[in-house]
Amino acid sequence: MDIQKIVQQQKSFFNSNATKEVNLRIETLKKLKLILKENEDKFYTAIYTDFKKSQFETYLTELSLIYNEINDAISNLKKWSKQKRVSTNLANFPAKSYIIPEPLGIILVISAWNYPYQLSLIPAISAIAAGNTVVIKPSEIPNNTSKILAELINTNFDEKHLCIIEGGVETTTELLQQKWDKIFFTGSTPVGKIVYKAAAENLTPVTLELGGKSPTFVLADCNIKITAKRIVWAKFLNAGQTCIAPDYLLVEKSIESELLEAIKKEIQEFYPLSENINENYVQIVNDKNFDRLKQMIPTDKIYYGGETNVKNRFIQPTLLHNINFEDSIMEDEIFGPILPIISFENLEDVITKIKEREKPLSLYVYSKNKIIIKKILNEISFGGGAINESLVHLSNPNLPFGGVGASGIGSYHSKTGFDTFTHYKSILHKSFFFEPSVKYLPFTKLKKKILKFLLE
Ligand code: NAD
Repeated sequence: MDIQKIVQQQKSFFNSNATKEVNLRIETLKKLKLILKENEDKFYTAIYTDFKKSQFETYLTELSLIYNEINDAISNLKKWSKQKRVSTNLANFPAKSYIIPEPLGIILVISAWNYPYQLSLIPAISAIAAGNTVVIKPSEIPNNTSKILAELINTNFDEKHLCIIEGGVETTTELLQQKWDKIFFTGSTPVGKIVYKAAAENLTPVTLELGGKSPTFVLADCNIKITAKRIVWAKFLNAGQTCIAPDYLLVEKSIESELLEAIKKEIQEFYPLSENINENYVQIVNDKNFDRLKQMIPTDKIYYGGETNVKNRFIQPTLLHNINFEDSIMEDEIFGPILPIISFENLEDVITKIKEREKPLSLYVYSKNKIIIKKILNEISFGGGAINESLVHLSNPNLPFGGVGASGIGSYHSKTGFDTFTHYKSILHKSFFFEPSVKYLPFTKLKKKILKFLLE
């Protein structure tokens, strides 16, 4: 595809003001939903080919979130796009003041492979809702999902408004050389830095949705059975290939063995395996990630699991115990079905350790103790999270989703997504009917007095 030509076309289309029509935005989103609905089977087949991901899990973790985002934007975007009146201060009297939500222009969305549909489409939905044009560059790794997305979007939408450009590093590099009005990137922290640098060349604003190691506190007063169930669900969904999955557990020493047993039991219940296959257990995305994860497992610290099978790119849900912060598994984000467990006796010490590291994307606490929960939430900086749950904060549209520090810049979902692709233009509007001379030279004693009164 001719990248420069598409960028030019999108720029001209945006400059024609067509996308400023709210009806066009609504019609585009309705059409997107219809196309997704009509082609659900194709989406299911493609993702199954890439990951062996089941139909229902794809619906639950991908399509349902996209449909919700579209419905929410369609219902609210008229309200969100309206100019808002604000009060005017005394010094500017008489005047009215208002804020006009203005689309930024042409948007580039670069996405990661682990939830290939929603990570590509949800930012695009917000960008369209806010009145922008969009180019999406999905990850090349799950190539069947990338292909079906490109085929369906590019045959049903005009490329000057919404289009998909497939490709790997070379294509992304060329895309990053263009002048965009915003770049929305989902992926790893190292590539996030490349995107940030490229964007800086043109002073292009960015939203960076990055990764990191998300800690999960499990305190002695929690309900161990429910905690184990919720952690197993969250950690091994998508075989741990979820940016906000609990990366490691911090468990109070007094309940360590009980919790380990409870987690093991839940894994066995959720994932009864025959020949390393379970229809609800997703494959590791490719050989590179399979090898990376296999090498991460310290065989002398396996509490449960550890089995692997290269043919199926299978890594058994694996629990590691006797882990401490200095172990190599604690260096990088795991992004797979391996769960290290660190036990602790002194909460203060572990809080300090986390604060010494990069700011996590998510953090979870399992406890009934409100004082401890408040302490952790107050003392540790992280993107977002949940108490006595994991992952689900992502599915509440009223909660902005994003990281902080090394785990990201900016956030999205629902109104926050709309804001991410909007410039709020501030206007002070005067009439000609009243012209006090007080602000004009020469400043007499009286004028100074009045001005001082008005300005303070
Ligand atoms: P990645 O950074 O390797 O790739 C992301 C995108 O960048 C892809 O489209 C890829 O083609 C492109 N890319 C890769 N290398 C590039 C380069 N050198 N120059 C230009 N573009 C390049 O990430 P990934 O492996 O696809 O995804 C895994 C990471 O994404 C994990 O760290 C995970 O935590 C993170 N992630 C974050 C979120 C979030 O919402 N915060 C969601 C999903 C994944």
